[in-house]
Amino acid sequence: MDKEKYLTDPRFKGIEPFKDKVWLSSPTMHGEELRFMTEAFETNWMSTVGENINEVERMTAEKVGCKYAVGLSSGTASLHLAVKLAGERLYGQPELGKGTLFGKKVFCSDMTFDATVNPVVYEGGMPVFIDTEYDTWNMDPKALEKGFKLYPEVKLIVLAHLYGTPAKLEEIRRIADTYGALLVEDAAESFGAAYKGRQTGNFGDYGIISHNGNKIITSSSSGMLLTDSKEDADKARKWSTQSREDAPWYQHEELGYNYRMSNVTAGVLRGQFPYLKEHIRQKKEIYERYKDGLKGLPVSMNPIPRDCEPNYWMSCILIDKEAMCRQIRGEREGLYVSEPGKSCPTEILEALTAFNAEGRPIWKPMHMQPIYRMNGFVTKDGNGRGRSNAYIDLGKAADAGVDIFERGLCLPSDNKMTKEQQDKIIAVIRACFE
Ligand SMILES: *Cc1c(COP(=O)(O)O)cnc(C)c1O
Repeated sequence: MDKEKYLTDPRFKGIEPFKDKVWLSSPTMHGEELRFMTEAFETNWMSTVGENINEVERMTAEKVGCKYAVGLSSGTASLHLAVKLAGERLYGQPELGKGTLFGKKVFCSDMTFDATVNPVVYEGGMPVFIDTEYDTWNMDPKALEKGFKLYPEVKLIVLAHLYGTPAKLEEIRRIADTYGALLVEDAAESFGAAYKGRQTGNFGDYGIISHNGNKIITSSSSGMLLTDSKEDADKARKWSTQSREDAPWYQHEELGYNYRMSNVTAGVLRGQFPYLKEHIRQKKEIYERYKDGLKGLPVSMNPIPRDCEPNYWMSCILIDKEAMCRQIRGEREGLYVSEPGKSCPTEILEALTAFNAEGRPIWKPMHMQPIYRMNGFVTKDGNGRGRSNAYIDLGKAADAGVDIFERGLCLPSDNKMTKEQQDKIIAVIRACFE
């Protein structure tokens, strides 16, 4: 990308690049984190056992309202054990070398991070992607219902709550129950968000949270598995520490993993916990300032559905169809043709980069990813792979996920962003539409 092109463009006249980069979403530390890490150091619990782990597990279960929270090394590891527990409950213990979901189809969110769906494949399963809806930018319950009509044998759903906004949990839970399927909630991005007063991560048979560096609160890297089953919580703890049996030597009856949370990172998380509310408040302010500041432009913010209290983790915009300039995205790069009064995600993201601020495209839908090109994809109209390209090219039946990916983007949403910095970002976006 040619930065100079933007810095010398008369539309951006008078806007100076940021001296310090404005991040998409970076860790926000407060001080207590260091105290708990130091405590781990001084008491020599520099391991995967210790008081910090016990405390963050307790606080997480209490916050989510579930019975058990198991601290693990990442959100992805938590998802892996969640789908493995679900797979074993559904299909029993597999032959060694085959996953618990071997050869089984699993319904998965389509527009999401690949970490939502990869664990299904770790277990030998075959993700079938369910299209997105505009109301929440999450899994479309109508498409999910259609999925069960096409694939009645499916027994597992993996659902992500994107950008801190809950999916239509009541409808999805009801559909899961109707078809006798288990539900795994990927609440990696939505910790602290509620649907009808109940926390995300609390609706599924299993849930997970991530504390990766850019999430609403962080430990630098770890995750949590959520469940109401003591047996499953115990099993996840055992699997995560190499599946040692109760014996005087290393005795193994099941496959093991090194997935347990560290007492040091748990210390960081313990120090962050009291600030969850504050982070959500700051993110909400950022969201509302964007909403206000972008008024009059042909864009809308990511949706805040009724019945939801999101955690506002990420502020995103969707550009009106009529206000999109031409944009072509190949597998590795994007190009656009500038037009007065119009813009596109490629232009806005490049302009933000030129002014030293970090935006991000919307998650590219999984069914568009080369790795998953052979997997099923279901829209509310049926088999999403079955339509002719000509029809799609006419722009008539673009799937919601593809459409949001084409027209949407994530704006810098860092807690520590000042009002002045945000005003400048708003000015850059406004200039793109001149
Ligand atoms: C961050 C994230 C994950 C993975 O969490 P890690 O802790 O980074 O492994 C999974 N799903 C979604 C939707 C995420 O945003």
